[in-house]
Amino acid sequence: MFRESPAATGTTVAAIPHEADSLTGLCTRAHLHKVLAGAFAHRRPGHAYPALLALDLDGFKAINDSTGIVTGDGVLARVAGRILIAVPGEATVARIGGDEFAVLLPDGHVAEGVAARLFELIGRPYAVNGHAVTLSVSIGVALAPQHGEDADALLRAANTALHRAETGGRNHWVVFEPWMQARASARQSLEIDLRAAISLNRVELRSAVAIEQFEVHYQPQVSLAERRLQGFEALARWRHPERGMVGPDQFIPIAEETGLIGLLGNWVLHTACRAAAAWPTPRHGAPLQVAVNVSPLQLRDRHALIESIAQALGESGLAAPRLEIEITESALIGDSRATLQAIKALGVTLSLDDFGTGYSSLSHLAHYPFDRLKIDRCFIRDLPNGGLAEGRVPARAKWMIQAIASLGSGLDMSTVAEGVETELQAQQALEAGVTDMQGYLIARPTPEDDLPPLIQRLDA
Ligand code: C2E
Ligand code: MG
Ligand code: MG
Repeated sequence: MFRESPAATGTTVAAIPHEADSLTGLCTRAHLHKVLAGAFAHRRPGHAYPALLALDLDGFKAINDSTGIVTGDGVLARVAGRILIAVPGEATVARIGGDEFAVLLPDGHVAEGVAARLFELIGRPYAVNGHAVTLSVSIGVALAPQHGEDADALLRAANTALHRAETGGRNHWVVFEPWMQARASARQSLEIDLRAAISLNRVELRSAVAIEQFEVHYQPQVSLAERRLQGFEALARWRHPERGMVGPDQFIPIAEETGLIGLLGNWVLHTACRAAAAWPTPRHGAPLQVAVNVSPLQLRDRHALIESIAQALGESGLAAPRLEIEITESALIGDSRATLQAIKALGVTLSLDDFGTGYSSLSHLAHYPFDRLKIDRCFIRDLPNGGLAEGRVPARAKWMIQAIASLGSGLDMSTVAEGVETELQAQQALEAGVTDMQGYLIARPTPEDDLPPLIQRLDA
């Protein structure tokens, strides 16, 4: 066991007088900068180089929300105390943000050992004000001089490694590597372009008018047995003047992180409803539906989302059941049930996207008002492809699809096989009991102007 002080009483560097963080007694960000700059300026030839560790607590906000700020503060003070226990005496420890800390080690050789120890100590359970709390930490490690030859560069490298640790599933530590900087810069320049493109269109993004650089493409969904056209999924596209076509997998996450997803999602919704209202009714079957992806972040602002859906329906005149709202499985963590019920109350169709890849438990399905399950592409991709030496994965994929299809049918939901590329996959999905499909076998996502001949072909 280790002894734990309720709050840290000071930092380990006493040489430079400084303002302490009042909650933890650790150094402030400004002081850390000073010490780090000094470590570079006064390093004697032949002596060790410093290392910097950037720490961010995982899921701290949830602890604050569920146990209250007083307990949250208590946890932060305990974390500070444990950091001081884990680091060597000559280290400088700072709190640089709400739940962010940094450790400066004058001798970088020990950095990885310290990171491992911090990770282990911070991860042990806490008891604060009668609450049992567990948390984990993500850590980015940067070593001088190879990762940064001055204070700013080393700080940047540690933060880049931290970001990598967090996007790679949190709860671990990562040592900086140069490719991370390249990727972070590429992402940053994409973010700058996305902000520029969205602010260029800011006013128009509230409606369904055509805007510069962004488009919506539509991919058909058909029934598996009769190949009857049911509707299209709307997929956002960004046609950048220099970069060319940028895929939503690249720009949607940035739009989410930067708070731009609300505007963009609203525009896709309005545009898709307006397009669908003009589609002809097929000769066979019901009026065509349009499926629109909604980000988990849009779900958080329930009123804005409901208003946006109601407006898009009202302005386009599209009948509510013809609009399908797709929500990814990972959005089901947290309190999304009331929001989904409010969406459903508008009369629209609700589907659960990328099923089988997120974190939702099966029990969710019984409690959420979904009409449709979209079976993630990875299951379809793994199906037997007719080769001679098929292993266990294809056999399992087929069982998984069969189980999901029967779950859907028992719960009165239709099921869509996503990413069907071959006749063999379609046939196996049909045999497994899946009702519908979407994929390159039928058609790729298609610009709005090219839809009439596609509708004609599929409705023949
Ligand atoms: P998703 O909702 O699962 O959309 C299906 C994705 O699978 C699309 O990728 C589609 O082009 C691709 N796909 C369809 N059939 C096949 C196939 O046979 N083979 C292969 N390899 N791929 C196929 P896309 O258009 O790149 O979109 C990626 C993801 O970006 C979407 O996944 C969706 O989660 C997200 N997204 C797209 N548009 C929007 C949007 O307007 N709002 C939000 N929030 N997310 C969007
Ligand atoms: Mg989708
Ligand atoms: Mg999907």
